[in-house]
Amino acid sequence: MGLFDTVIVDPPFLCERCGAELEIQTKEFDSGMTTYRIGSVISSSPVVVGVVEDSLFCSACHSAGRAASDPLYFVIWHHILAGVERTQEAALARLASVDRLDLITWLDQAQKGEREWRQRFRRFRRDVELWHEHVERENAKLAAGSAAGEADRESDAAARVPFRFFLLSDEILNSPDPLAEILSQHEEHSPEADWMF
Ligand SMILES: [Zn+2]
Repeated sequence: MGLFDTVIVDPPFLCERCGAELEIQTKEFDSGMTTYRIGSVISSSPVVVGVVEDSLFCSACHSAGRAASDPLYFVIWHHILAGVERTQEAALARLASVDRLDLITWLDQAQKGEREWRQRFRRFRRDVELWHEHVERENAKLAAGSAAGEADRESDAAARVPFRFFLLSDEILNSPDPLAEILSQHEEHSPEADWMF
C-alpha cells in the first residue's frame, strides 16, 4: 500500500499553473518503487500495445489549494514505454510513430547503461581493494614495530612510485572516514567516478 513507480522524462515536465518541476509517480504498473524511462521494458504494463491514462500531480499547487492534477498518458509499445504525453492526441500519435530507429536507440541506451554500471563497479571495487591493502600494510607496520616500520615505509614508498596511477587519492587517505569518502567519490554523477577508463 502506498507504493508506486517513478517515471523519468528528459526534460522533466513542468506544472502548467505554477511552473514547478513535476515528478511522475504512477500506480498503473507494478508499484514496486521501480524507476522507468523512455525505452524501459514494463512487463507489468496493463496493455501490450496502447495508451495508459494516468494523472500528473503537482504538490506545490496542491499545497496552495489550487487544482493539482492534470492528465498524463503513457504510451506502451510491446511492453516498452515508448512515450509519456500530456494529451491523448499526442499519445496516440506517438504510438503510431514507433519504428525500428526507436528500437535501435533504446538498445543502444541499454547497452551503454550496462557498460557504465560495470565500469563504475570496477572502479569502486578497485578503490575498496586498495583501501584494504593499505589497512593491511599499516597493520603489518604497527606489528613489526616502529624502527622496522620506518624502513618499511621508505621502501614501500619507493616501490609504489611506478604504480602511482593506481594509488588511492589523498582525499580518501586523509579522510576521517575513508570508506565513506570512497562511497561518496563513486556516487552517481560524481566527477571523480569518471576520471578513468
Ligand atoms: Zn503547480
